[in-house]
Amino acid sequence: MKKIAILGSTGSIGTQTLEVARTNQDLEITALAAGNRIELLEAQMREFHPSLVAVWSEEKAKELRLRTSDLDVRIVAGMEGLLEVAEQPESEILVTAIVGMIGIRPTIAAMKAGKDIALANKETLVTAGHIIMPLAEERGVRILPVDSEHSAIFQCLNGENRRELHKILLTASGGPFRGKKKEELKAVKVEDALKHPNWSMGQKITIDSATLVNKGLEMMEARWLFGVEPENIQIVVQPKSIIHSMVEFVDGAVMAQLGTPDMKLPIQYALYYPSRRYLPGERLDFRQLMQITFEQPDMENFPGLRLAFEAAAVGGSLPTVYNAANERAVALFLDRRIRFLDIPELIENCMERHTVIENPSVEEILQTEQEVYQMIDKLELK
Ligand code: NAD
Ligand code: MG
Repeated sequence: MKKIAILGSTGSIGTQTLEVARTNQDLEITALAAGNRIELLEAQMREFHPSLVAVWSEEKAKELRLRTSDLDVRIVAGMEGLLEVAEQPESEILVTAIVGMIGIRPTIAAMKAGKDIALANKETLVTAGHIIMPLAEERGVRILPVDSEHSAIFQCLNGENRRELHKILLTASGGPFRGKKKEELKAVKVEDALKHPNWSMGQKITIDSATLVNKGLEMMEARWLFGVEPENIQIVVQPKSIIHSMVEFVDGAVMAQLGTPDMKLPIQYALYYPSRRYLPGERLDFRQLMQITFEQPDMENFPGLRLAFEAAAVGGSLPTVYNAANERAVALFLDRRIRFLDIPELIENCMERHTVIENPSVEEILQTEQEVYQMIDKLELK
């Protein structure tokens, strides 16, 4: 039995990870953590019997303790709770399916405790990749990508010499507003932005896909995971999300991974790497699939992607500013307090105001996050 702990078990990636565990009989769920949706968390506890569960708020933790007093489980709360789940002695792999920079400390704690990381939480690599990657090497733990594009690249590189990798071709669907101009994007509503053409995901990443910030974050995620400079990462728009990403080697050979859009494939691949398992579900049918089309990304009307390349080129604490400003701006947009195009504008404003710290420590990253939140509160009041 492979023993797995999950941060963010009630979310899109978390529930799909549990689906993978349900179909495969040899995965044991040892710990779960979630922020809300106590009823779902309770159902997961009754089905998978973890010995440790973390809930973000103490109040909800109390409620959950009452509801599950018949179970043999310890329920903890807050950041201490997340860290406890991350470090839990029984587990071998930590699935980081939590959303946002809150994942940084638990991810580091798990690595220090010798766990492999099945990494969905891209915000952690974007902001702290320069700490995470050397730490993985030092501790001899693996960072197994769950993001579909990064899993595709990881699969394409299997058995290859990484030094012969020339370029990453990171595919993008273009999101629900592909082809639209700024003028048309002004009036975009939250409901429109939440309709992704190919994937069903959590709210934050769905908005990020609409602004193309998600692709910007993924470019920075790829940079750290595969040791490639941002200028060697090209964004290729492929609207149907059939090619999950590609790599180009020094001799010009291009390798791609294709499949129907189903996150269970990269999740399962990360959990069983280097083995493959049967996965029920739809398959690509080349008798039906007549064409795969490509476009250039539109950085003019979607400045969120351009800003990511700028943040990556400067590095240091600037990717943290990019990410933190986006996290706060997306929350404000979902609350209907700002407009769609204000998201990249707030990111740009914060990036301009920030004095870059080179090689920031975890404390400096978290400090920068707080400063950006304060900056946005001030900007928003204007
Ligand atoms: P989601 O919003 O559906 O789920 C997030 C999970 O984190 C929930 O279980 C929530 O309760 C938990 N959480 C949030 N704040 C918490 C807190 N303070 N304490 C404890 N738990 C907390 O998000 P998602 O779409 O599953 O995405 C998770 C991560 O995976 C993100 O970083 C996202 O970018 C990445 N990702 C998601 C997908 C996808 O298909 N959904 C694909 C690739 C990458
Ligand atoms: Mg992705």
